[in-house]
Amino acid sequence: MSITTTPTTPTTTAAAELALRHELGDLVRLPMDDDYDVVRTPWNVAVAQRPAAVSVPTSADDVVRVVRAAARHGLRVAPQGTGHGAGARDTDLSRTVLVRTTAMRDVSVDLTTRTVRVGAGAIWDDVVPVVAEHGLAVLHGSSPDVGVVGYTLGGGIGWYARAHGLSANHVRAVELVTAEGELVRASAEEHTDLFWAVRGGGGSFGVVTAIELELLPIADAYAGMLLWDGSRADEVVRTWARWTHDLPEDTTTSCRILRLPPLPELPPFLSGRTVVVVDGAVLGDDATGAARIAALRALEPEMDTFARTPAAALSRLHMDPEGPTPSVGGSLTLDGLDDATVDAFLGAVGPDVPCALLVSELRHLGGALARRARDGGALDHLPFGYLAFFVAVAPTPEVAALGAADVARVREALGQLSTGRELLNFAEGPVDASTAFDAAAWERLRAVRRSVDPTGLFAPTNEVPVGA
Ligand SMILES: Cc1cc2nc3c(=O)[nH]c(=O)nc-3n(C[C@H](O)[C@H](O)[C@H](O)COP(=O)(O)OP(=O)(O)OC[C@H]3O[C@@H](n4cnc5c(N)ncnc54)[C@H](O)[C@@H]3O)c2cc1C
Repeated sequence: MSITTTPTTPTTTAAAELALRHELGDLVRLPMDDDYDVVRTPWNVAVAQRPAAVSVPTSADDVVRVVRAAARHGLRVAPQGTGHGAGARDTDLSRTVLVRTTAMRDVSVDLTTRTVRVGAGAIWDDVVPVVAEHGLAVLHGSSPDVGVVGYTLGGGIGWYARAHGLSANHVRAVELVTAEGELVRASAEEHTDLFWAVRGGGGSFGVVTAIELELLPIADAYAGMLLWDGSRADEVVRTWARWTHDLPEDTTTSCRILRLPPLPELPPFLSGRTVVVVDGAVLGDDATGAARIAALRALEPEMDTFARTPAAALSRLHMDPEGPTPSVGGSLTLDGLDDATVDAFLGAVGPDVPCALLVSELRHLGGALARRARDGGALDHLPFGYLAFFVAVAPTPEVAALGAADVARVREALGQLSTGRELLNFAEGPVDASTAFDAAAWERLRAVRRSVDPTGLFAPTNEVPVGA
């Protein structure tokens, strides 16, 4: 059945907004509404997004109505969950309806098929404890309040990544509303091109309303963190880098230099300090775990929390900020971490360098991430060994500018060593999305986009463009 989503003659934005209100009532919030500022504000509150309208649907049917109405009135549709990734947008939203899925957070576990079906607005904290009750786990990331869908559509790397790969390649199905205004299910059997594209290719292909993820039999892990004073950064980062070179795939860790502000929320022994932290997980018994991290323990950390840890606790291991946070950031990917690369990293963000970055992080990739997933999606592997990720808190535009300058400085300093491939989940600012894929995958993504959304209705971050 063909749906009337052909845009009517474009009207002014104000006329389109009023037409939406007439058609959808309270399902859209307009700039004139008291709660517009509340519903338009993303998790990253440093990003001011001002869409023509915001919709907070509570069902897939609502999403269908909004997509059809937006298309009819010549407006685009920007899908968004939490807004953790809002900084990556480079287009203005003045002719766009922002569809926030935050009210669609149902989670249901199917033990027979070993899957979990998750509403598009669910965050990892809605899912991880629920599946953990069954001794199972999902491939969540380091933050409990990142959205399951945005994270997974962008690939998704977490503490089990070197053993099990990207979250995107453990998706069993997605339900999404297409540019035609149809609710479809895409899986290995139905709408197979769409199913391939959304797994790593992002939000260019429709508004996802629910996702089904494979569950893994992981009840706990040998996990925790090791912490040293910042003055030890040189030896810790070098030792960690060398240690990762021949590490088995059961171990996934990150190494960070944290410049912690003097905040009353922080424990006094951390407030205002620069520290070096290695954290992560070993999927193995205690003896295996202890053996894996022995070389790091030999550096006598000031704090050592590595121990048997329930899977449910792993989403808070990294101590990522929860709730709305203003931030600026950026990343790059590295093939390896030889001495010259570590020198460049420490030269750019070491403890003696004046620097506005809260987090200067190296994440160890490789292992299963480096192998093409069988029947995987658009991002079926990561052809690089490490991610470098930098974040500054940005409470005011002036502080944001300092942080952004440091992100740019560090990207410049490490640029020669970078692979040039972006990992879009960690882009944090506008980047050329084509650099996240190999040439064949990018061409196929563009072909799928042209076929399912030829008029470019959807306005995601990291968009796969319709035109040349
Ligand atoms: C503190 C923090 C920790 C993080 N840790 C990790 C980590 O460990 N591993 C990792 O891989 N990433 C991590 N990320 C990156 C994170 O995965 C990305 O920012 C991701 O895009 C967030 O998804 P979201 O839905 O929460 O954000 P949103 O900004 O809501 O969504 C990001 C994009 O996803 C698309 N999208 C979202 N929902 C839909 C939908 N329903 N339909 C279609 N498209 C949609 C849109 O293009 C949207 O712009 C972290 C980010 C932060 C800020």
